[in-house]
This record gives sequence, C-alpha cells and structure tokens, in this order.
Amino acid sequence: MQLPHIDNCFSIEKDKIIDVLERPQIGAELKWNLEALYADLKLWRSDFEKIDPMLKHLNELKGCLADSPETIKTAFELEDDISRLLEKLSAYVRHKSDENTADNQNLALLGKISSKDTLVDAETAWIEPEILAIDEEKLRQFAQSPGLSFYKKTLDDLIIMKPHTLSADEEKILGLVSDSLSTSYDTFILLSNADMRFPKIKNEKGDDVELTQSNFVTFLRTEDRNIRKNAFEKMYETYSGFQNTFASLLDGTVKADVFGVRTRKFRDCLDDALFEDKIPASLYHNLISSARKNLPVIHKYYGIRKKALKLDELHLYDMYNNIAATKEQTWTWDEAKEAVINSLEPLGKNYQREAKQAFDERWIDVLPRRGKKSGAYSGGCYDSHPYILMNFQGTLDDVFTLAHELGHSMHSFYANKAQSYHYADYSIFLAEIASITSELLLHEHLIKTSKDKNFRAVLINHLLDEFRATVVRQTMFAEFELIIHKHREEDETLTADFLKEKYYRLVCEYFGEKVFCDKLIEYEWARIPHFHYGFYVYKYATGFAASAKFAKRLIDGDRGALDDYVKFLECGSSRDVLDILKTCGIEPESNEFINDSFLLFGKKMEDLPLLS
Ligand SMILES: [Zn+2]
Repeated sequence: MQLPHIDNCFSIEKDKIIDVLERPQIGAELKWNLEALYADLKLWRSDFEKIDPMLKHLNELKGCLADSPETIKTAFELEDDISRLLEKLSAYVRHKSDENTADNQNLALLGKISSKDTLVDAETAWIEPEILAIDEEKLRQFAQSPGLSFYKKTLDDLIIMKPHTLSADEEKILGLVSDSLSTSYDTFILLSNADMRFPKIKNEKGDDVELTQSNFVTFLRTEDRNIRKNAFEKMYETYSGFQNTFASLLDGTVKADVFGVRTRKFRDCLDDALFEDKIPASLYHNLISSARKNLPVIHKYYGIRKKALKLDELHLYDMYNNIAATKEQTWTWDEAKEAVINSLEPLGKNYQREAKQAFDERWIDVLPRRGKKSGAYSGGCYDSHPYILMNFQGTLDDVFTLAHELGHSMHSFYANKAQSYHYADYSIFLAEIASITSELLLHEHLIKTSKDKNFRAVLINHLLDEFRATVVRQTMFAEFELIIHKHREEDETLTADFLKEKYYRLVCEYFGEKVFCDKLIEYEWARIPHFHYGFYVYKYATGFAASAKFAKRLIDGDRGALDDYVKFLECGSSRDVLDILKTCGIEPESNEFINDSFLLFGKKMEDLPLLS
C-alpha cells in the first residue's frame, strides 16, 4: 500500500500562525484536483461496494493454494486487485479529509474506509501462512514454474521467511499478543504529546508562551540566545522529572523487540530489523564507523559556527539558529515554482516537462487555510497522478519543501509508469533519495543564480544544517540504538541512569571539543520517538548520502548519470533495494558514498561566504 511521505522527521517544524483563508476564496489553480480520482461521491461509493464480492471470491481459494502454481497466481492477482482499489478509495478520502480535517462527512468516510481496510487485512491474513505451510521443495518448484514467473520475487521473499515463521497455533498466539507489545510506545506517545505540560517561556515579543514539542525547535532557531537557552533548559528539566517513566517505556519497547528476535529465531535485533530489506549488518556498522571517522570535519564547522556567532562558548542550544544573519526574502508561488522547475535542468527536458504537469494538472494543494492539515506530504495512488499537500507561506523552507515533495511525487510517477501495480511501491529504505536529490539540485541552482553573498550564506547554512540533522544526528541515534538493544539482549534493564550515561557520552563524542556539552542533554533520548521504531533512522543517513552521490553526478553531467537516476526511479520494488542501488551506480556496502557525502559537507563549509 502506498503511504504518503509525511515529512516531519528531520525538517524544522514551524509554528503555524497563519492568516487563514476559507477554501472558496482560493483560486482553482492553487487547489489540487481530486476529481481526477473520483468525479463525485456516487462513483466512490460504487467502487466501495465492489470490495466485498472481490474479497469473497479470493476467500473461496482458502485451503487450495497448495493445489497448483495457478491457484497461487489467482490468489495474488485477486489480492492485488483488492489492494489497488482500496488504495484508490483511501487516497481520495484521505486527501478530501485533509482539505478540512473538521468536516464530519469526511471523517465518517475515513472511518468507513479504515474499517474496511482492517477487515480486508484480517480476512486475507491466511494467505501467507498457507503458502508457507507448503512443503519447501514443492514451494521452490512452484516459484520456478512459468505461470508464476511474474510473482517469483514475491515467492522468493516469502520462502526466506520460512525459518522465521512458526506453526499456525504459535503464529495465532503471537498475533494475539502483538497489540499488547506496543503498549509502551502507545503510552510514550500519550505521555509526551498529550499529558506532559511544559512551563511558559518568554518569546521574542516578550509574551509568555507555553513551551510545546512543536514550538521547541522554533525557539531554538531564534536569534535571541536567552530564549534559546531558556527553551532548552525548560524542555529537559521537565523531562528529568519523568526520567524513570520514560526509561521504563523505552525498556518495554526494546524488550518487545528482543521477544520478537527470540521467538522468530533471528540472530539479534539488528538482524531482525534489516531482514526484510536484505540489508547486511555490515552496512549499518560501516555507516557508523565512516561517520565517526569523518567527525573532525563536523567539529571544524562548529568552530566556524562559534566564530560566526561571536560566542566564547558554543552550547547545544546554539546549533539551530542561522549563522548568516540576514533578512530572508519572501517568495511568491510563481517564483518558487519557476526556481524548482529550473533547478531540474540536470534531469533533462523530459523530466522537466513531466514535473511541470504537477502544476498544469493541479497535483498540488498550495495554501494554508482553516481546518487544513498542517505540514506537507506527497500522496496519491497507483491509479492517479501523485498529489502534494503543502502549506506554502513564501519562506525559503517552503521552496525547499516544494522541491522535496515534488521529488517524492516524481519517484512515484516514474515507478507507477514503469511497473505493474504489484511492484510499483518502493521501500522506505529508498523513499527519501529522490526527495533529497531534488532539494540538492535546487540548492545548486539557487547558489549558481544568486549574486547576493548573504543569500548564498543562508543557503549553505540551510544545507549544512540539513546534513547535520540527517546524516550526523541520525547516525548518532543509530549507534545509540545498537547500545540499548545489545544491553537488553544481555537481559539487562534499561534504567534512566544507564540511558543518561550512554547518551551523554555519545553526544560529547559526536559534538567534539569545540562545543560545550550541556549536561541536560542526557535526557534527550526520552523525547525521541524514533527509538521506539527499531533501527529505522539509519535509513535517513544512507538516503541522504545516496542522494548526494546522485546529485553530484547529475550536476557534473557524468556519463550515464541521468540514465542511472531514471532507472532508479523506475525500479519500484521489482528488485531488492541493494540491487537497485548497485545497478544505478551506488555501492551501498562500501564506505565510499558515506565518505563522499562528508566531502560535500566539507566543500560547502569552505564555500561559506562568511569566511571570505
Ligand atoms: Zn520526505
């Protein structure tokens, strides 16, 4: 199922104080055209009614999959048809609801489609176990049969799951406990997003404002150092009061990971997490060792930051404000659109022409308005062009968000065009590559076309910060995840003292001697939701590094770079992720592409006009 890429993981969150418009006040060219999905609700309802008969037809095959390869093929085809239709129905309702999250009719439809989704999941849960129950030799013969050649990869992927699949009765028990195993994470979310209250602090206007998870980064970006310091201290002092609860919640999540490893017979938690994408553990360890080796270049940057901000001591709350203090220009939508389209020149005329369709065919819902979902994402489905939700307010960040989301959309557009439905959706491991490549191309285009030294400094600062947040910070998180999982695998409890000590030491090592490592940072692990996702964040770091490689080759006009990039976009999930990268000119198992991304950082740092 194609999920929207919601970009809130490492982008800087903004306070949404918006001069809102009602939807009818906005011109059609700035609103997405959902009628391309369904012209009206009658058509949506008529498609919705088709799901149950299709499901009934599929379930008639229950107990027959071992009969022949053809039966499996029919089951897969029916499963695809149902999933494809559900995806289209969901995309329409989700996008409609995001136009106005308070609209009750949309909420009701969202509930209806979500229940149907759950029902389909439950009613089709028999398929995989039934295939896996087939004798292994017979199953391998099935996988070789010409009738199943299209689904060979899917079958091969299932076969490698066999050693980690339990008997039907055991699987049933695991299914029954799975819900309770996520309680720690559910409680973590409720505690940090709903129940915890933070003190009020003074903003730049002198008003008392309650500190929240979402305005925290906004405060860290202000030029007023007292506000930054205050926000930092109040945030982590509050967490210190809940340290044992947060430690216990993280312990609970990691304990559930270890439970999964032991029941399904994986080597360790890392092996389990990397299994689905067939990623070797060496790739994960290489990322950490390469990043560590390259830390001196980051430490050098902190020296530059300290000098640019004219500080005696650079603290951890001095990391997010722009070191190029200048008034940012406000962008009109047309200027943003023109800059993004022009930046795609290294991708060739065809790609540029296709990307223009996003504007001509109204893929994008541009402006904020009352009730609209905040943030940005790229969505849509296999049977529609992609859709982009934005809340464009004319900042430089917004222009980069447009480039980013358009990168995701073009990835889906190319994959959908080249692949059949079954193999069109791409893995999360690859998901951020096209979006970041697109941002890097925009960066180069703006640098090249701007004569304003201050603006160039803002751009470079923007890129360096994104690199730090995506590659350096996420690799540090990846290393922390290894530490906590190893501790639990040895049946040791993750106590607050253990977590604080290990986290603080890592922060000191990653930030180096040019930064004053404020002790309160030892509570930061408590507020990071990603530590509950099990070895997920490393994908941000490898994704950025792969994008940097693609972008460099494209900008340098390397022979074959464009072909490799288009091949990458078109692959979908038709091959394993490492194969896809390898055929497109990236050697994911070598350290080279990680090292290259640090070289890019070093080069950009030297280009900072502040230095000249
Ligand atoms: Zn993204």
